[in-house]
Amino acid sequence: MSELTDLYAVVAACQKCALAKGRSNTVPGEGPEHAEIMFIGEAPGFHENRLGRPFVGAAGQFLEELLASIGMERTQVYICNVVKCRPPENREPLPHEIEACRPYLDRQIELVKPRMIVTLGRYSMAKFLPKASISRAHGVPTRVGEFIVLPMFHPAAALHQPKYRQDIEQDFRQIPRILAQAGEVTETRPGEQAEQLSLF
Ligand code: URA
Ligand code: SF4
Repeated sequence: MSELTDLYAVVAACQKCALAKGRSNTVPGEGPEHAEIMFIGEAPGFHENRLGRPFVGAAGQFLEELLASIGMERTQVYICNVVKCRPPENREPLPHEIEACRPYLDRQIELVKPRMIVTLGRYSMAKFLPKASISRAHGVPTRVGEFIVLPMFHPAAALHQPKYRQDIEQDFRQIPRILAQAGEVTETRPGEQAEQLSLF
């Protein structure tokens, strides 16, 4: 058993917020232990709650198509959410729920140590870039601590709105280049790690 699977077991027993009451399954996240890219969404929805896996409904299907557009499969990346239990009626997660669930996401980031974190939607973006507005920050890679954070619109929103859809498709196509450059930057400018700055 890995430390990640130990974490999943802790999440499965968690009662720290009221979302525990309405869940069928916790949805901790999934993916390789040392994935280069971590995608962070918002919260499990209907299908995720039913199956205990992230992004398995329509938004997940779209995410898989986006990954395919850059020659990747979901098994190559780590996928999780800001909160691990489904909010009632798919409402947005509340600040105290996000706060209660935060240590699990923090631990996932610490264990997986991705080179790049792609935030899907406003809630995961706010974790790294609390003052950013998504309409301006999407597609702009920013160094936050030791990570490159790339904000994007949420695929559930982009799926049905042509404007956002074009943006997310375009933002996705940048991933391979940013990932390649992230390696170089980490090697040649190690002194900048504590800073938050726009890289490209
Ligand atoms: N939307 C999310 O934010 N996360 C999921 O897991 C599914 C849909
Ligand atoms: Fe625990 Fe997070 Fe589920 Fe709340 S949402 S019960 S903090 S796992």
